[in-house]
Amino acid sequence: MNIEQIKEEVCNAGKRLLKEGLVARTWGNVSIKVNDTQMVITPSGRPYDELTPNEMVLVDFHTLKFDGNIKPSSELKLHCEVYKTRPHIKAVIHTHQMYASIVAAAQKDVMVLNEEHQKILGAKIIKAAPYALPNTKKITVETARAIEQSNAALMSNHGVVCIGEDLEKTFEVARTLEHACALFIESKKKSA
Ligand SMILES: [Zn+2]
Repeated sequence: MNIEQIKEEVCNAGKRLLKEGLVARTWGNVSIKVNDTQMVITPSGRPYDELTPNEMVLVDFHTLKFDGNIKPSSELKLHCEVYKTRPHIKAVIHTHQMYASIVAAAQKDVMVLNEEHQKILGAKIIKAAPYALPNTKKITVETARAIEQSNAALMSNHGVVCIGEDLEKTFEVARTLEHACALFIESKKKSA
């Protein structure tokens, strides 16, 4: 795929996040890795239903430098840190999706109860990175650490990050994480 095609894919993914109910308006972001140094990411503060491919931003994930005048997502650093930590990953989705955010608000790790979910999420426990202010070095480093051995991590009091070998798999991780978190919440209610 060339850069233009990747920009189109990221743009469509942004709209799809909205459609699938994984984000509200602009509260989430998605990126695809282009090569060993660059990624394409959704822009900062634009409503997803109005996105166009030429608003997607090409960023060097080692230097954070970006092409053009459009600012990349404010949660850019999180994506950069994840690509540096997990070199085989091709796509990153960050959302504030509902059930995962409820668990993230409790600052708890998620026990993945369903075996099928464990396979897709790549772990039996999805870790919650300790709370830190958005866009700080601390939150990016802590989140990258929490996702070292799974395909998803929670960010306490904030949201989630999901990763995959391609965009499709990353969407599947995000959806599965919602189911896993809903089950986890149910199981806690029953044991309470
Ligand atoms: Zn966020």
